[in-house]
Amino acid sequence: MMYDDTIAAIATPPGEGGIGIVRISGKDALLILERIFVPVRPGRWKPYRMRYGHVVDRTGATVDEALAVFMRGPHSFTAEDVAEISVHGGPLVIEQVLQQALAAGARAANPGEFTMRAFLNGRIDLTQAEATLDIITARTTAALALAEAQLGGWLSHELHRIRDLLMDPLAYCTALVDFPEDDVEPQNVEPPLAAAVQALDALVATAQQGIVYRQGARATLIGRPNAGKSSLLNALLRIDRAIVTPIPGTTRDTLEETASLGGVPVVLTDTAGIAESADPIERLGVERSRRAVALADVLLLVVDGLARPGDDDNEIVALTRSKRTILAVNKIDLIDSADAVQECVELLKCAYENLRGAPFDATVAVSALTGHGLDALGTTVARLFLGESSHADGRLVTNARHRDALARAADHARDALDSFRRGVSPDLLAVDLTAAINAVGEVTGEVVGDDLLHAIFSRFCIGK
Ligand code: GDP
Repeated sequence: MMYDDTIAAIATPPGEGGIGIVRISGKDALLILERIFVPVRPGRWKPYRMRYGHVVDRTGATVDEALAVFMRGPHSFTAEDVAEISVHGGPLVIEQVLQQALAAGARAANPGEFTMRAFLNGRIDLTQAEATLDIITARTTAALALAEAQLGGWLSHELHRIRDLLMDPLAYCTALVDFPEDDVEPQNVEPPLAAAVQALDALVATAQQGIVYRQGARATLIGRPNAGKSSLLNALLRIDRAIVTPIPGTTRDTLEETASLGGVPVVLTDTAGIAESADPIERLGVERSRRAVALADVLLLVVDGLARPGDDDNEIVALTRSKRTILAVNKIDLIDSADAVQECVELLKCAYENLRGAPFDATVAVSALTGHGLDALGTTVARLFLGESSHADGRLVTNARHRDALARAADHARDALDSFRRGVSPDLLAVDLTAAINAVGEVTGEVVGDDLLHAIFSRFCIGK
């Protein structure tokens, strides 16, 4: 499918930079390029060959010096004719270049429209289009590797294989419905059906880990003032973000930053003291802290290794009762021996678990100051989300949309297998098989409505 109109957008991020790129895609890409770009050396455009010249306006006045390249479809990102013009990376100049492209006949692209065209033109399937977005938004190397693998097409291939496994039995069932039984060669559809069920189940089983790697998790640090929450947050990020100060209660707002903990992108939120305060600004902070606790997937209860539980802990510990919680015993650098650390950690664990009325999910001894125990804390958090099983080949389903559709496909395929074994009539079997194939098609994008496409591609930035 080719589109009538030609789209254009700024492909580089907003702000100042070394270069800015305007991308044009569609059947008039070359025409528009020729209208707004004058190469220094005249001559015909050779695809994929960069040319030096100037972007000009309608009067022929120079807008900026530029490099431009033309790519002939289908060998381009969108599978259409594409032109890319690189100019100096200032917001105003890039905008002016875009305006020239629009004046020359292009339409301003919608978010994700280039990638959507790549999908609708059949160059990539929907899982690969989604992987493109995941590559852009990846915050950890693990998430990036998964997205690159998905773009590479392993999931697309696996889904095609599964689809073929389901197609054969469907063709057989349809033949049985359409023709008298004697005319149809009997076929045992059990092996392909069983293989499809197994493959779908195997994919769904990888999703819990995959989704964690891609979407990450939220961890909120709570604890008494001065326990070292801000310091720990900083140490985990290894950058100086939170304002660390020895005066209690000065972390007035919640601070959020993403750290890579054991390969999992974890949004860490630092909270102000949970204890009630008369200071209105601090009370606002308390409200936000409660919200941060409510949103968290896991809480890090940070306690000072030298302090002992007190009355002001009650409220804080109460918040941990409904959440998975890791006890982080901080400031262990102030304790002289490893034995003494061990003793202190045991004591605090016991005391806080009594207060909590339940064991913690893990206890880790750390020093925000020296960095001791931070790796262990990171892997502890990651393991809490990833579970124990590992999928070392990097072939994980990373998307809840995929998981849900594949789980449905597995159920339908299982029902079909069951029906076949029980000798249910072929027309009923065909219904389940069709549903399973359609559910697989939702993932690859073969069976997908405009609403869903819009929902997926509107999350992209303009120019992608
Ligand atoms: P918060 O109120 O819980 O956010 O605590 P801060 O991070 O502001 O830390 C309070 C004080 O404890 C500061 O003076 C920090 O320098 C100090 N501190 C934090 N973590 C450690 C640690 O691991 N070891 C030592 N010795 N001091 C720490």
